[in-house]
Amino acid sequence: MFVTDKNQKSSYDVIVVGSGAGGGQSAYTLCMDGAKVLMLEAGRKYVPETETPMFQTPDLAPLAAASTPDKPFGFYDATVDGGWEVPGEPYARASEEDAGRFERWRARMLGGRTNHWGRISLRNGPYDFKPRTRDGLGLDWPISYEDVAPYYDKVELLIGVYGSNEGLENTPNSSPGCLLPPPKPLVSDLMVAQRAKRLGIPVIPGHRAVLTQPLDFKNSPARLHPGNARAQKIIADDMRKRAACLWATSCGRGCAIRANYQSTTVHLPPALASGNLDIRTDAMVYEVTVGRDGRANGVNFVDRTSGKHRHAAARVVILAASACESVRILLNSKSERFPEGLANSSGKVGRYLMDTVGSSVDGQIPLLESLPPLNEDAADGHQMYVPWWLYQEQHAGKLDFARGYHIEFGGGKRMPDHGTGAGLEWLTGGSYGAKFKQDVRRYYGSFVGFAGRGEMIPNDQSYCEIDPVMKDKWGIPVLRFHWQWSDHEMRQAAHMQRTFADIIEAMGGRVHGEVKTDGAKAIAPGGSIIHEVGGAIMGSDPKSSVTNQWGQTWDVDNLIVADGGVFASNADKNPTLTIMALAWRASDHILERMRRKEL
Ligand SMILES: Cc1cc2nc3c(=O)[nH]c(=O)nc-3n(C[C@H](O)[C@H](O)[C@H](O)COP(=O)(O)OP(=O)(O)OC[C@H]3O[C@@H](n4cnc5c(N)ncnc54)[C@H](O)[C@@H]3O)c2cc1C
Ligand code: SF4
Repeated sequence: MFVTDKNQKSSYDVIVVGSGAGGGQSAYTLCMDGAKVLMLEAGRKYVPETETPMFQTPDLAPLAAASTPDKPFGFYDATVDGGWEVPGEPYARASEEDAGRFERWRARMLGGRTNHWGRISLRNGPYDFKPRTRDGLGLDWPISYEDVAPYYDKVELLIGVYGSNEGLENTPNSSPGCLLPPPKPLVSDLMVAQRAKRLGIPVIPGHRAVLTQPLDFKNSPARLHPGNARAQKIIADDMRKRAACLWATSCGRGCAIRANYQSTTVHLPPALASGNLDIRTDAMVYEVTVGRDGRANGVNFVDRTSGKHRHAAARVVILAASACESVRILLNSKSERFPEGLANSSGKVGRYLMDTVGSSVDGQIPLLESLPPLNEDAADGHQMYVPWWLYQEQHAGKLDFARGYHIEFGGGKRMPDHGTGAGLEWLTGGSYGAKFKQDVRRYYGSFVGFAGRGEMIPNDQSYCEIDPVMKDKWGIPVLRFHWQWSDHEMRQAAHMQRTFADIIEAMGGRVHGEVKTDGAKAIAPGGSIIHEVGGAIMGSDPKSSVTNQWGQTWDVDNLIVADGGVFASNADKNPTLTIMALAWRASDHILERMRRKEL
């Protein structure tokens, strides 16, 4: 249930800070196994079933739902109280130059960014957990793919992920029955696949957390919760209530029929149904409190509705406020015993911040012009994608950068909006009236866009720390970001540009704009791909890492980090599926330790 000052209990088994992918998964796993959990979320309560503007058309919104500073992803985007800026919650940057700039997207709402994320759900492969062993750069994880694989299976079964098993290098197969069938590709997808193949580039079905058919509520519950009949019943009942995708609306607005993954529609309802979850929204946590024994005993937070400072107590504290926010809470948890912040005896809290390497190129394809109108909203993108395909060439030293990227691409005739027909001048030379209408119909649906998502190697120059001066509106010290790409990332971005142009040309198309050969110009700013991870990395040595393989901090053994903070590398695969798999694994470990009376 949702609690306030009046009914918050005096103590819980576990406090979970944050309600996004990491927090949602942690609360779900713990509550389904009987632990009493208090979730503290800085944002407001958010109810997708009633608040999601799923079926509203762009013409009903101001400026036809176009992007504005308040709503950078458009009027209907699910993010409330957040975005690139959060009012009253600034952060500092050591540099405003493109090369050193770090951008930050935050969502202040129940469910966090999972309400509007892209739902692309790729597994890390075996190489991705041991990158240093493979090429001598960056850091290895203290775990291998085999440790995480059972949890990838569980998360896929629970949230519902479509995709296929292709058996490609470092692109793992899921266990039988874990994946839902992929959706049909668009005409433009098929054409990309056909032409890319001629260049030796594989195009395979994408993996997204969207239900292409109802979940298997008969068989999956026993695989998710073996030996736990109550949990099986709760999740079977909940799975029945999730509808399959209807292929017509935009996932970024959220999904009122619960056909895609959001923490608010997938993790929190069954956790609440267990009777073991209390959620307190508008609770801005600023420090973990520690007892005389050096163990965490709760957290302090500001009640955003009253401005009052409050405390909550528990045997275990899980930080899942998103990688950077969890770092901020650790660094702000200073005491005589922990003067450099909590869990920071290694000095590594805030270090090895990573994002994804991003670069994009668009093109226009004459063969796709003037096709008959049809609904191509489909699964809202990522019906197909290109996994990194040059492992062998790279290993043989034939590329001028380390680590790979996958390609996300899109095209087709989406529901027309304010952008449809805009910016055609590079093709038409400018047209008006009847000719303009003809041009819009001719070119509508003939564009394809390619975006690379690549691995960044952690470095000493990319980190966050507490700014010595700046504070947020509650007086809580904020983060200052330092950022630097290495040559590996910049060369990778240049490689993306050349590859995308090659595919567009192989489709008989025209590239829009310049193909950037200078990687420094091709690469998107740090943080802007919104895959920030690291800052509280896991490792096998307390001197060089913040947590062990269970996300448990070396210095405080009942304090766990369960978001992207623990990533020791940031593979090209989008991070959220791995965040959830690790959070489930960490929670299983907490439950096991509770059974052994260690916690
Ligand atoms: C537009 C967009 C598209 C994306 N697409 C993809 C994709 O396709 N695939 C993918 O893998 N990833 C994608 N991501 C990234 C993905 O959203 C994140 O990796 C994921 O949400 C991280 O989960 P989290 O639980 O760590 O953080 P969040 O989801 O951000 O949740 C953290 C929660 O903690 C709360 N919180 C923060 N500070 C405090 C505090 N001090 N006290 C209490 N609560 C606090 C926040 O309000 C928030 O609700 C995308 C992100 C965006 C914005
Ligand atoms: S495309 Fe499907 S999953 Fe996405 S919001 Fe629409 S119905 Fe939901």
